[in-house]
Amino acid sequence: MIFTLLAYALLLLTGWALALAPAWLPYLLAAYGGFFVIYFWCMLSPSSSAFGPVISQLPGVGKQVVYLTFDDGPHAVVTPAVLRLLRQKQVPATFFVVGEKARALPEVVAQIHREGHVLANHTDSHHHLLTLTPLSVIQREIERCSGTIAELTGKQPDCFRPCAGIKDRYIAAAARRAGLLLVNWNKRSLDTVCRSPRAMIRRMCAKPANGDILLFHDRPTRCSLADKLAVLTAVIDCYREQGFVFRGIKKRPAQDGPAG
Ligand SMILES: [Zn+2]
Repeated sequence: MIFTLLAYALLLLTGWALALAPAWLPYLLAAYGGFFVIYFWCMLSPSSSAFGPVISQLPGVGKQVVYLTFDDGPHAVVTPAVLRLLRQKQVPATFFVVGEKARALPEVVAQIHREGHVLANHTDSHHHLLTLTPLSVIQREIERCSGTIAELTGKQPDCFRPCAGIKDRYIAAAARRAGLLLVNWNKRSLDTVCRSPRAMIRRMCAKPANGDILLFHDRPTRCSLADKLAVLTAVIDCYREQGFVFRGIKKRPAQDGPAG
């Protein structure tokens, strides 16, 4: 709302300057530049709530809680390997799945659900340009993915994460209308880039805070599967050593599965 009002105000002022006060034009152009820089920062920043509520950290009550999240699955090889590790470590996590991938691998989705993890919505086709599409397309992307999760698990998802965490007021509104919490993260593993597994572990384990939401991907990335699992293991261990418990992300924390 505030962005729309600002855009209209700048447009009116530009019309006024063009007609009556050309000396003001450079200042108005500079204001336009500033406006777009702030607008894009709000779209791209995972924690910005400028367009509506966004959860990027979720403080637990009474104990130190951390939330592991995986995006872009399910994948036939990576997801079962991640599940195996989580089972060994007895750690619950949240999987933000892509609807069309979920329909292609229903048995993997069923396994995620059966093993006590949370399934969440990550759009139907992982549409990268969702911010440039009409509201009806955004709604369809969200509804189809939620429908697939409900069909495969018998449970509607609670949470939605837009692709790359990028949101605008239409995406935020569509998530709200679908009854979904918009959930991003406050610590990303950068497993898509994977420059140095050791640096990834150091960064993820630095300054652990209550309610940290950690971002990983359960699909092939530049990280080998072995490196991805090694980083994941080290991150789980370092949080545990500092007294944290792991949980899946749900609307009502009382419904959380067993803490890991
Ligand atoms: Zn994604």
